[in-house]
Amino acid sequence: MARVHNFSAGPAALPESVLREAADELVDFRGSGMSILEMSHRSSAFQEVIDDAEATLRRVAGIPQTYRVLFLQGGATLQFAGVPMNLMRRGGAGYVVTGLFSKKAQQEAMRYGKVEVLATGEGCGFSRIPDLAPIEQRATAGDLDYIHICQNNTVYGTMYHELPRCGEVPLVADVSSCFLSMPLDIERYGLVYAGAQKNAGPAGVTVVIVRDELLIQDPALPCCPTYLDYRQQANAGSMLNTPNTFGIYLCGKVFKWVEDHGGLAGMEARNREKARLIYEALDRSRVFHPFAEPGSRSISNVTFRCTTPELDAAFIAGARERGIEGVKGHRAVGGMRASIYNAVSLEDVQALVAYMEEFEKSHRSN
Ligand SMILES: *Cc1c(COP(=O)(O)O)cnc(C)c1O
Repeated sequence: MARVHNFSAGPAALPESVLREAADELVDFRGSGMSILEMSHRSSAFQEVIDDAEATLRRVAGIPQTYRVLFLQGGATLQFAGVPMNLMRRGGAGYVVTGLFSKKAQQEAMRYGKVEVLATGEGCGFSRIPDLAPIEQRATAGDLDYIHICQNNTVYGTMYHELPRCGEVPLVADVSSCFLSMPLDIERYGLVYAGAQKNAGPAGVTVVIVRDELLIQDPALPCCPTYLDYRQQANAGSMLNTPNTFGIYLCGKVFKWVEDHGGLAGMEARNREKARLIYEALDRSRVFHPFAEPGSRSISNVTFRCTTPELDAAFIAGARERGIEGVKGHRAVGGMRASIYNAVSLEDVQALVAYMEEFEKSHRSN
């Protein structure tokens, strides 16, 4: 069976070899006579699976022992509450609003303490990342519990090409759609979190990586549910309750696939090349218009549109006929979005660009 060119924003493409391995092991996991789906999370076989997943991730992303790795549920959305409930100890945090998810994170945090919007891209319709200078300036007072950013804006197709320098204030980043897409300098952050379904595995697993020190200093807020208490989850090895066993197993396989395909440096090189092909097609086009401004363009999600919504619809319908799926833009922006996560190959992107050129030719002349 032919697989489509999958540009879905999430849940998204997974490496075919990972899916085939999981299929092979599904009914009888490594001679146990059971599926991984049927096995106790307290079994030694599953303990090995979760330990392996963590160890592989630590190797691939260079995560030192001073950071804890958690595999939780509830998506990145639950961490919009988890972050303030754990870290808003003095009652105030700074948020940078660069799109849909950072706005949701900011609004959720307001339920737990004082939230200051340090910068917003609303004025330009979120087509670029705001200037970092005022954020860095505000950090120097040192009174904020943390500064929250969304590093790659999945809906608008923008990303930070450099991180704000926050001094003593911990930087917290939602990295859902850029996790494992390029090297991660974890020591620049106090905490990062990512819903796995963009680049790291199936829906239902959220990876949280947090500096140990932040868990030791102070407890979570009294309103924090036990499940969301990072310190308790870290002490329980992410198993305060039944974790998403199958999801963690599949994430482990994706981490291994990343390691075997050049690691994060290899992923970045390929992602930059894939992004370059599409942005170059957009920049020379008279039919398509890129959404994100050049200095803020994402290498995970490429957003663009035609001159009219009717043309957008025609492009999306024609894509489907050619086995190109998932290019419809988010309803907040319209147009198109090509999500080019790690498992999307150069050949997939070449097929998309070839179709864009074909569409361009047939719509430029009339
Ligand atoms: C998809 C996404 C989310 C929401 O993730 P859920 O796992 O559905 O809660 C949050 N932030 C970013 C950057 C995303 O891409």
